[in-house]
Amino acid sequence: MSSAGPPTSPPRDRADACPGALQTHSAADGELARVRVPGGLLRADQLRVLAAAAIELGNGALELTSRGNVQLRGLRPGAAGELGDRLAAAGLLPSDSHETARNLLGSVLSGRAGGRLDARPWVRAFDAGLCADPSLAALPGRFLATFDDGRGDVAALDGDVGLLALSPGSVALTLAGADSGLRAGPAGAVALALAATRAFLAERAVQGGSAWRLAELADGRARVAARVAGARVGVPAEPRVEVPAGARVEVPAEPQVRPIGAVPQDDGRTALAAVVPLGRLTAAQLTLLADLAAEVQLTPWRGVVVPDLADGSAAALLVEAGLVLDPDSPWTRVTACAGLPGCARSLADVRADATAAVMVGSLPAGGARQHWAGCERRCGRPGGAVVDVVATGSGYRIDAPTA
Ligand code: SF4
Repeated sequence: MSSAGPPTSPPRDRADACPGALQTHSAADGELARVRVPGGLLRADQLRVLAAAAIELGNGALELTSRGNVQLRGLRPGAAGELGDRLAAAGLLPSDSHETARNLLGSVLSGRAGGRLDARPWVRAFDAGLCADPSLAALPGRFLATFDDGRGDVAALDGDVGLLALSPGSVALTLAGADSGLRAGPAGAVALALAATRAFLAERAVQGGSAWRLAELADGRARVAARVAGARVGVPAEPRVEVPAGARVEVPAEPQVRPIGAVPQDDGRTALAAVVPLGRLTAAQLTLLADLAAEVQLTPWRGVVVPDLADGSAAALLVEAGLVLDPDSPWTRVTACAGLPGCARSLADVRADATAAVMVGSLPAGGARQHWAGCERRCGRPGGAVVDVVATGSGYRIDAPTA
C-alpha cells in the first residue's frame, strides 16, 4: 500500500446535511423528507402508507431518487413527527439514529430474474447489521452501499462499499467503485461489507473526520482494504481471500442492464419494469402499484418494477396511469432536478420545461440522455455520459455530454 496520495476532492469543511425522514430539509415549497428504502423494496402496505402521507402531510406526490429512495415534499412545518410515527409503524424507519446512513442499492430484479445469486438477503442483513451497530450512526448521509448479484447494474453506481457476485460461490468487495481484491463466499460477504464500512469510518477519523465519501480519502481504497485485510476492524465470519492486483475484476462504469417493459421471471411469472417520468409518483399511481403486487422495487434510474405477475396484462393499467413501458420513449432519457417552485435557487421551472419538450418532441441534443437543472449544482444528475441542460435565467445552456 502506498503511504500517501491526494484525496480526490477537497476536504469538506462541514458535515453533510442530507435530509432524512426526521431530519427534514426546508425547501421553497415546504419541508422535504427523504425516506430510505434499502434495495428499493417496498411492500404494498408500505406503498399505501406513503401514498396517504403524501396526500395528508405533503403535496400529494412522491419523488424517486437516484439511490432508490423516496422523498415527500411540501410538508407543513411540524409534520415530520407524525410522518416519522407513520413510517416507523410501517417498518420504514427501523432506527432514528441510523436513518440517513441506510443508502443501500440492490440489483434490480435480483432473486426474480437473472443474476448469479439473490442479493436481497444481503440488503436485509447489511441493513440490520448497520442499524445494530451504534458506531455506524456516524456514517455520512452520502455513504452508499451497493449489492450487485453479478448482473453489473448497481455496482456501477459509485458505491463507497459494495458486494459484487463473481459466481454463485465467490463475491468481490468493491470500494469506491473498484475491486478491492478481497473475496468472500456469499455467506460471509455481508460481514466483509460491514467490516469495510467500519474501516471507512476508522480511516476517515484518522484523516480528519470530514470526508463524505470513501473516494475523498487519501488512498482511501487501499487504506480501507488494508484495514479490513489486517482485521483491525471487524472480522468476517469466514476466511477471506485476497487476490493479486492483476486478478482483480473490472467493475462496470455504467449499469449493464436497465430493464424496461415486460421481463420474464425465472419462475415463469412476469415483472413489469416502468420508467416514472421525471421520477415523480402520484398517490394514485402508488395506490395502483399497491393493488397490483405484494411488493415493488424502486430502481436507481427512477423507475419501478412490479414483479410476480401472472402475465403482462397489467401493462395497460400502468401506461394508462402515466408510467412508461416503452424502451424507446424519450422519458427513458430525461431527468430533472426539483427546479421551481420547489427550489429557491432555481432559475426556471425545469420540470415543466422538460415535460413540454418531451411532449412536443423538441428535446435538445437530438434527444440524447440529458439532465435538466435549475442551476449549476445539477442536483440529481445521473452517472455516465449525460448532456446537461442548465437554466441560465435567459434560457438554457446545453453542455456537451460528460461522464
Ligand atoms: S440543481 Fe439547483 S435548482 Fe436544481 S434542485 Fe439543485 S440547487 Fe435547486
